[in-house]
Amino acid sequence: MHDCLFCKIASGAIPSHKVYEDDKVFAFLDIAPVNVGHTLVIPKQHFDSCDETTDEAMAAAMAAVRKVARAAMAATGAEGYNVGINCGAVAGQVVMHTHVHMMPRFPDDGLLHWGKRAVSESEMQKTAADMAELLKN
Ligand code: 5GP
Ligand code: ZN
Repeated sequence: MHDCLFCKIASGAIPSHKVYEDDKVFAFLDIAPVNVGHTLVIPKQHFDSCDETTDEAMAAAMAAVRKVARAAMAATGAEGYNVGINCGAVAGQVVMHTHVHMMPRFPDDGLLHWGKRAVSESEMQKTAADMAELLKN
C-alpha cells in the first residue's frame, strides 16, 4: 500500500465517516467541510492526481459523486451542490490521492464562487487554437 492518507482511509486502516463504497470507489465525509455533507469521493486505486487517473477510475468516481450528492441532498436538505477537483499542488491539492469534492449548497450559505479575470480576445484566440491543435487525434 502507498504511504497515503486516503489509501489508508479507503482500506479502513484510518477511520472515516464512510457514506458509500463499491469495488472501485470509496466516499467519506471531509474532516473540514465547507458545508454539512461535504463528501470526498476517491478511486480505491492510488493515483497521485486527477491528471494521472485512468478514464475508467475517473468515470467510476464521477458516477459515485452523483449518487452521493442525491443522498446528501435528501439527508441534509441541500438544494444543489458543487463538484470540485483540485488537480495538482498549484490548484490547491493537498492530499496527493485523486479525490472529488462534492459540496452541498444551501440558499444563502455564503460560499463564494471563483474570481474572474480579464483575458484579451487575442489571447483567447491563440489559446483556443493552441489547445485545439494539441487535441487533434
Ligand atoms: P485538497 O485540497 O487536497 O483537494 O483537499 C483535501 C481535503 O481532505 C480537505 O478538504 C481536507 O479537509 C480533507 N482531509 C484532510 N485530511 C483528512 C482526514 O484525515 N480525514 C478526512 N475525512 N478528510 C481529510
Ligand atoms: Zn493513495
